[in-house]
Amino acid sequence: MEGLPRAPSSAWASGVEGRRLDVRCWKPFTINDLEIGRPLGKGRFGNVCLARLKENHFIVALKVLFKSQIEKAGLEHQLRREVEIQAHLRHPNILHLYNYFLDPGRIYLILEYAPRGELYNLLQRSGPLDEQRTATIMEELADALTYCHNKKVIHRDIKPENLLLGLMGEVKIADFGWSVHAPSLRRQTMCGTLDYLPPEIVEGRTYNEKVDLWCLGVLCYELLVGRPPFESPSQSETQRRILKVDVTFPPSMPEGAQDFVSKLLRYQPSERLPLAQVLEHPWVKAHSWGVLPPGAQKAS
Ligand code: ATP
Ligand code: MG
Repeated sequence: MEGLPRAPSSAWASGVEGRRLDVRCWKPFTINDLEIGRPLGKGRFGNVCLARLKENHFIVALKVLFKSQIEKAGLEHQLRREVEIQAHLRHPNILHLYNYFLDPGRIYLILEYAPRGELYNLLQRSGPLDEQRTATIMEELADALTYCHNKKVIHRDIKPENLLLGLMGEVKIADFGWSVHAPSLRRQTMCGTLDYLPPEIVEGRTYNEKVDLWCLGVLCYELLVGRPPFESPSQSETQRRILKVDVTFPPSMPEGAQDFVSKLLRYQPSERLPLAQVLEHPWVKAHSWGVLPPGAQKAS
């Protein structure tokens, strides 16, 4: 991993952000700069724990990955991409990668700490979300994805496992350029790794940023209903349903949300509701908390 890209110092140099500036400035970090706190979770290639910068007590999440495991899985390139992409994105709904450093056996990623953990766990714990919460998440994601797409970054793997929650419950997109190549093991038992795949990826066709619109539709359905729309007993059945866009809305699902989801779940990528119209959709506008900051992304 010696050749990992280094963020240009100019990327961190602008803006007065007080204590935060220190963690972003490009000086060589070592583990000795950090106080390690409690574990936050275990991933496939390492662990995540709470940490604090000794210098200014700034709280971060430290992801520690083992080089040998990454190399064994042949994922050096994907990790490099994740680092490169995530380090250059700055948006309130995208988990910030502040910095990274290496030692002989490990790769350390200094990440923004998301105090409320994974959206996946919230769904498991509390069941489906209400309209207000779901519409707010749709609005936040549409804004963050507009930002990404304007920078020619496609996420491709929007799903509850890859969404963390900030202090106020705001959503934070994590795991850029990563999970697509190494699907999370968590859902594999119920064939769920396919649940969020759009038809063009199932068919192995070329795809563009419209894949994220499909995933937004699947996510909205899962958040409101408690299970993804194409969930089936077998992978082949899930694939068949995705390709036919075989969606059934339970009667309990509000009509506005049904309209919203059905406009995103379109076989033809070009027919999916564009992000600008996601933000303007009557159901989203009626139910979201409207938390986007002034000067939020102008969707194209
Ligand atoms: P992978 O990212 O390799 O697909 P994963 O998402 O299961 O796997 P990690 O990203 O390593 O694993 O994270 C492990 C756990 O640590 C997550 O389930 C999450 O609960 C917690 N976690 C990860 N990053 C953060 C963070 N920035 N803030 C708070 N908790 C985090
Ligand atoms: Mg993760």
